[in-house]
Amino acid sequence: MLREIITYPNPRLFLQSQKVEKFDENLHVLLDDMYETMIANKGVGLAAIQVDVPLRALLVDIGDEEGEQKDKQTLIEIINPIITPLDDEKISCNEGCLSIPGYYEDVMRYKNIKLDYQDRFGKAQTLIAHDFLAVAIQHEVDHLDGHLFIEKLSFLKRKKFDKEFKKKTKKIK
Ligand SMILES: [Zn+2]
Repeated sequence: MLREIITYPNPRLFLQSQKVEKFDENLHVLLDDMYETMIANKGVGLAAIQVDVPLRALLVDIGDEEGEQKDKQTLIEIINPIITPLDDEKISCNEGCLSIPGYYEDVMRYKNIKLDYQDRFGKAQTLIAHDFLAVAIQHEVDHLDGHLFIEKLSFLKRKKFDKEFKKKTKKIK
């Protein structure tokens, strides 16, 4: 079932999400709904809080080498994640967010990370991620702590965002 994505500046996006304790049918329905919602909105990642559920659960699907998302084959379901950077190397990627539609900007993040997490059955998993996959995971994990990528912009870029955002919301009203 498609769920509604909440968008900036909805204050719920700034909530601290809670640890998942029950790996039950409710969690599985949530993950399935999140997948449907992410694909329908052409996203490569989605955190539970973006569909208004403050739980530490997220999806990342950056697709295959061509960026094609194939029926859950390239999907990673990530519960209760812990990120450990493998070194200090950073990369800049052009990021967007389904909760800030139509806005894209370059953000610096770790290039190489280790991710410890649980799958939908509560089984412990470890993943080494590099480049765009590492970036997508860091973007989604930030959501669980109530952070958005616009917080990482330089002062000037943030000012530009605030101005554009104001203009856009005025148009809607
Ligand atoms: Zn996002």
